[in-house]
Amino acid sequence: MQTDVLIVGGGLSGLSLARQLQGAGVDYHLVEARSRFGGRIQTQFVESQGQTGYFDTGPAWFWPGQPRLEKLVQELGLKVFLQYAEGELNFEDERGQVFPGQGYASMAGSYRLDGGLSKLVDGVRQQLDSAALSLGETVTKLEQTAAGIGATSVDGEGQVQTIHCQRVVLALPPRVAAERIVFEPELEEGAIAAMTNIPTWMAGQAKIITIYNSPFWREAGFSGDAMSRRGPLAEIHDASPAEGGPYALFGFVAMPAQVRQQQSDALKQAAVEQLGRLFAKDALQPIEVILKDWAFEPETATPLDAQPMYSHPAYGLPHALSNLWQGQLMLGSTEVAANFGGYLEGALESAEMVFRKLM
Ligand SMILES: Cc1cc2nc3c(=O)[nH]c(=O)nc-3n(C[C@H](O)[C@H](O)[C@H](O)COP(=O)(O)OP(=O)(O)OC[C@H]3O[C@@H](n4cnc5c(N)ncnc54)[C@H](O)[C@@H]3O)c2cc1C
Repeated sequence: MQTDVLIVGGGLSGLSLARQLQGAGVDYHLVEARSRFGGRIQTQFVESQGQTGYFDTGPAWFWPGQPRLEKLVQELGLKVFLQYAEGELNFEDERGQVFPGQGYASMAGSYRLDGGLSKLVDGVRQQLDSAALSLGETVTKLEQTAAGIGATSVDGEGQVQTIHCQRVVLALPPRVAAERIVFEPELEEGAIAAMTNIPTWMAGQAKIITIYNSPFWREAGFSGDAMSRRGPLAEIHDASPAEGGPYALFGFVAMPAQVRQQQSDALKQAAVEQLGRLFAKDALQPIEVILKDWAFEPETATPLDAQPMYSHPAYGLPHALSNLWQGQLMLGSTEVAANFGGYLEGALESAEMVFRKLM
């Protein structure tokens, strides 16, 4: 296969770049390793009592002051709603003692997307030419030659394909690219180290979503927000759909990835018990519990991401990565965005930056 620009990765940054290239009439091909588009964006659907709820297992929020996202949502005709925030926040200390009414919902004012964030992915994907997209193909090697770049990809059955192109955009976490892709000739000095040093935002996190037929916490005057020093969930919020049920609470698991491994059932059980302590006995009877551990997805995380992150890293494109293979190889995931690095808005910002360089 031949193309001008090869995009490696079909998350929001890769898809958004594809949309811009298609609009400008540039020949491109996008290769995605997973069997779905969206990368860190994933929405799961749960049916109960004749209603279907949508639950974001990756990102759930975006915020005012993120212009690219706002524009994309408008262009795709999608509906935004505000994070549920009416009522009080509960606090649990290290002994499991609960103190209700410790302030107000911490994510008040955050936006969510009606139908889940995968609507954003589907909306962009539907505008792209299907022939320019490959799913379930992992790029394993990039080889620069006099004629351009040859990209080797492997599908789930081990079948190998080569794509010949002029330029490559790595729209995947730089750390994952450094670990999983072989570059021939070797990249410029310091490049692999620079890629490895960029932590992948939220890659080491796990989310537990507990789903219920009734929003019993709302009925009791709670927002669904809670902070806990005991765990296993550290920060809890309402994760219900914009209207109707099933309803949900979700929390980030406050435990290093290594400790979480092989503990799924125990973790889910402990989370449900914690919600019982924090809100009401009704919390002990979920209709479903979803545990999504991103730290063990090789397309998102490397073993280095198992280290907990205590603050938002300063992202942007390091100098060592700004002119790889004489400009033929570019980085393009959210981690290289200068202003909104790590966020969904950053994925769009990176796509915009790379598009400008390619034109
Ligand atoms: C739990 C969690 C919560 C989050 N919460 C928020 C939030 O509330 N708000 C917010 O703004 N952001 C949040 N984020 C961050 C947000 O998800 C990211 O900013 C955004 O999704 C990054 O998009 P991307 O396209 O740059 O990267 P990714 O989504 O990581 O996409 C990269 C793609 O490359 C593919 N890929 C990897 N290796 C290869 C290969 N070798 N060959 C081919 N394809 C490959 C992957 O499968 C993936 O589809 C959260 C993330 C997580 C995990």
